[in-house]
Amino acid sequence: MEVSKAAVVGAGTMGSTIAVALISRGVPVVLKDVDQITVNKGLATIERLLKSRVDKGLSGQVAAKQRALVQPAVDFSSFGDVDLAIEAVPESIDLKRQVLQDLDDHCHTETIFGTNTSSLSITQLGAFTRRPEKVIGLHFFNPAHLMKLVEVIPGLETSDETVQVALEFCRLLGKLSVRVEECASFLVNRLFGRYVNEALYILQEGQMAVEQIDEAACDYAMPIGPLALRDMNGADVGLSVAQFNFQEYGERFSPAPLLAELVKRNLLGQKTLEGLYSYDKQTRKRIGSNPFIADILIHLGKLHNSDEKFDVERLFLPMINEAFLVMQEKICEVEDLDPALMAGLGMRKGPLTIASEIGLANCLIRIEKLCKVHGERFRPAPLLRRYVWAKRNSVY
Ligand code: NAD
Repeated sequence: MEVSKAAVVGAGTMGSTIAVALISRGVPVVLKDVDQITVNKGLATIERLLKSRVDKGLSGQVAAKQRALVQPAVDFSSFGDVDLAIEAVPESIDLKRQVLQDLDDHCHTETIFGTNTSSLSITQLGAFTRRPEKVIGLHFFNPAHLMKLVEVIPGLETSDETVQVALEFCRLLGKLSVRVEECASFLVNRLFGRYVNEALYILQEGQMAVEQIDEAACDYAMPIGPLALRDMNGADVGLSVAQFNFQEYGERFSPAPLLAELVKRNLLGQKTLEGLYSYDKQTRKRIGSNPFIADILIHLGKLHNSDEKFDVERLFLPMINEAFLVMQEKICEVEDLDPALMAGLGMRKGPLTIASEIGLANCLIRIEKLCKVHGERFRPAPLLRRYVWAKRNSVY
């Protein structure tokens, strides 16, 4: 099936940038929100992004053509000839149920429904409709017009045809379109969660300061440090995601106590101008690490730490271990794993490449040693052990 017309429901942060990704590849899109004011906000975002593309060399004519591909809407009356509808409404099961049922009533029987949910079950969302075989996760990253990755996530009832159409469509958008089996937080955010949590534990152990941890991560593989990123996304958002992962995966995702303490003290990061770093009240630019953190660490009491000196690889070992669990569960093709993490997080090398550089036998020795000190967070993935028993020292 060809997608000759699409719709995006929800014109907020994700919806408006997904719309730009669509129109920049020539796909006409109905952009729907609850009322004219919210639709206009979405249109203003699209206008701003097109203007910035014109400033960078896009011809005014092409920009005008793209702008004309957007059809604003406050109801579903223009959804009758839409081939793919992507919902990007807030992360509430009730809201998404209502939107999916409205789509079911207004779209033709062949229309595919994509959901941009970050955490809800695709299978559960599909079951709200009369067409679960046509419901699929299309997990774009923020901002969707720039970020290269889309995780394409079938639910239990999603048909192979729907998966193929979705994968191909996202490729046509110029994205790295990766099939990911349904699991909590999907692929990239699941691995990312282990890494950010470990950064917070390391900070809480008191051996390393905020900037040192971030600098070490950036020097090693990352475009931005985990603690700076925690501040960018907000400690409150981080805590609810961390609690969700803990609930779904158990002890190895146990959130660092420091995170709840940051939320309790309203040190949410950039939005409150105080977080792991402090920010200038006028310019909102980062000034330096937050002096309150030292007090909080004293208040929380020292965490047990290993007697080994901090080594940047410790930050990545939980991510590597999780990558082996993901491989074991066949969440994605092994060859897709590193490219997905690189495209989704901007890593310069993915966790399996890092593991191969460290050497799988060394990874296992280090993980086992850390497991003795920190427990479940470092219980070795059975598949990692098998690789080592098989004397495979690298993955690729
Ligand atoms: P947002 O709050 O910025 O935008 C949501 C929009 O949906 C709002 O404009 C709201 O008015 C609109 N809306 C609410 N009910 C509606 C309805 N019935 N019909 C039409 N529009 C409706 O939210 P967001 O950050 O864009 O997130 C949207 C989805 O994308 C969520 O499921 C979120 O988990 C997921 N997601 C977000 C990010 C991110 O970084 N923001 C990244 C990946 C996925």
